[in-house]
Amino acid sequence: MSFNGKIALVTGAGSGIGRETALLFGQQGARVACVDINEDNAAETVHFIRQASGDGVAIRADLSNPEGCERMVAQTIEQLGGLHHAFNNAGVPGESEDQWNVPGVQRTIAINLEGVIWGMKHQIAHMAEHGGGTIVNTASIAGISGAVGTLDYTAAKHGVVGITKAAAMMYGRVGVRINCVCPGVIESAMTEKGIMERPDAEALISRLSPILARMGEPADIAEAVIWLSSAKSKFVYGVALPVDGGFSII
Ligand code: NAD
Repeated sequence: MSFNGKIALVTGAGSGIGRETALLFGQQGARVACVDINEDNAAETVHFIRQASGDGVAIRADLSNPEGCERMVAQTIEQLGGLHHAFNNAGVPGESEDQWNVPGVQRTIAINLEGVIWGMKHQIAHMAEHGGGTIVNTASIAGISGAVGTLDYTAAKHGVVGITKAAAMMYGRVGVRINCVCPGVIESAMTEKGIMERPDAEALISRLSPILARMGEPADIAEAVIWLSSAKSKFVYGVALPVDGGFSII
């Protein structure tokens, strides 16, 4: 599974699942555009990639606006010379129902759903004209179940599953293969705040991870993303792949 000579773009690369996937792309030979709203964290990921003898660049972009999405693709192509694999992964937790407010809900949808739409638009345009490529989006178990997540987060993640399938159908024939991953509960900055600080954290983790009763690691998702980005999955189109410790069995 070598990505030698390939260029990969990873959003949310400054932390958690995005960082781990950027590192794995780097280890497998890809040069990686590490995109994040937090430039220092993205630069740190590039530093780790270089420490492991890989290469990449850090790009600061706010993916809650379409211009940021367009610019990250343009800068990747400008700085690294192309784009073969994209992982649209940046995301934020939703608004809890007791705090529902218009800007908060709009922000969740803007980052978690619209950011993926605008990112894909520019990634697909480039890939379709330059010999094809792959795109993996990060949905969630909240993208396939109504039993997890807040309403805005669940809506956005169901949306990611939907646009992944529609885009896979529309652009597969022009050489762009598109899939998404549906992580279960995974150790990261997001769950450190959203789950570990809750008094019922242990019970919640047992419910969300029914077999092992523990969180997964970012590497569990990164491995699935690398497989979906590699030629080993060349007959796989438009799947929403749960990587969730068995949550979606129920
Ligand atoms: P994380 O908080 O560790 O990483 C998210 C990254 O996205 C951060 O580096 C953050 O700076 C970046 N980001 C946030 N808003 C941005 C914006 N507007 N523009 C650019 N970058 C932005 O969280 P994580 O757990 O690694 O989450 C990654 C993805 O996985 C998210 O889409 C999340 O919804 C999804 N997910 C996570 C879990 C989990 O349990 N951790 C489960 C299911 C899905």
